[in-house]
Amino acid sequence: MLTPVTPSPVQQLRDPLFDEKEITVYIKRDDLIHPHVQGNKWRKLKYNLFEARLNGVNTLLTFGGPYSNHIYSTAAAAKMFHFRSIGIIRGDEPTNKSPTLKFAASQGMELYYMDKESYREREDLMNIESLRVQIGDFYHIPEGGTNLLALEGVGEIIGEIDFPFDYLTTAIGTGGTLAGLTAGLQGEKKIIGFSSLKGEDTLTAKVNDLVFAYTGKNFQNFNINFDYHFGGYAKVKPELVEFIISFREKHDIKLEPVYTGKMMYGLYDLIKQDYFPKRAVILALHTGGLQGLCGFENYFPGWSAEFFS
Ligand SMILES: *Cc1c(COP(=O)(O)O)cnc(C)c1O
Repeated sequence: MLTPVTPSPVQQLRDPLFDEKEITVYIKRDDLIHPHVQGNKWRKLKYNLFEARLNGVNTLLTFGGPYSNHIYSTAAAAKMFHFRSIGIIRGDEPTNKSPTLKFAASQGMELYYMDKESYREREDLMNIESLRVQIGDFYHIPEGGTNLLALEGVGEIIGEIDFPFDYLTTAIGTGGTLAGLTAGLQGEKKIIGFSSLKGEDTLTAKVNDLVFAYTGKNFQNFNINFDYHFGGYAKVKPELVEFIISFREKHDIKLEPVYTGKMMYGLYDLIKQDYFPKRAVILALHTGGLQGLCGFENYFPGWSAEFFS
């Protein structure tokens, strides 16, 4: 089976807006790493899979919602590298499985459902131990795939960039990717993370904690922008959908509405507002997650054939 391919390619985005503002924008295409195990989810899984294998543990267990990119990628990666995989899914078992869960099941992931209340405490040590009693030994990957080994994988992105740039931008969910990039950059450059969740004052502290746990240092060169969540996680507005469609038409690059669409919308908007100085070079990270388009057919009327093939 085709395995994930890195380094991912970088391409320049051309837009009259960038010429007018005299800035340069590149995009690092982590969406091209693999059709199913792509983006930051592969970056975050890589060293966790190594660690599981090193410890001789053949079962992966992780958590996620019914549309989770992490569940999707873990299921595919587990099949690819011959692990048994278990997905603990938030909420009651649905009568109709989401496209994500159908795919995960097709990859052999065993799915269990956890009511929302218990799910909140899913990662407590006691709960993990109680799952061990029920299921047997497993390698635990947290929801979203964020842990210190994830930072190591994300940090490899930095080593792949072989040209000068001033700003690196990424979408944010748990903050693991932003933490990995910050750790990798070691205080160099500026990093802007666009939150796909509503303002959460703990996010900066969480990123700082992760970076400190991994590097033993704190860095101030990252900034979290909460202005482009469009109402919160997985919430969408028509202008976001229109932006994603026009971006695809202009650049032939797909974005999805949960993460990368919001990041790119935010980046364009900041450029319009002259946030960046003239001659700035910006590198936007495409964190993948294109399977996420499948849950959003309804938001893209008339586009399904094009978008979801
Ligand atoms: C999961 C995901 C993110 C969020 O990454 P975190 O490390 O949790 O912040 C961003 N973009 C895409 C496409 C994702 O799938």
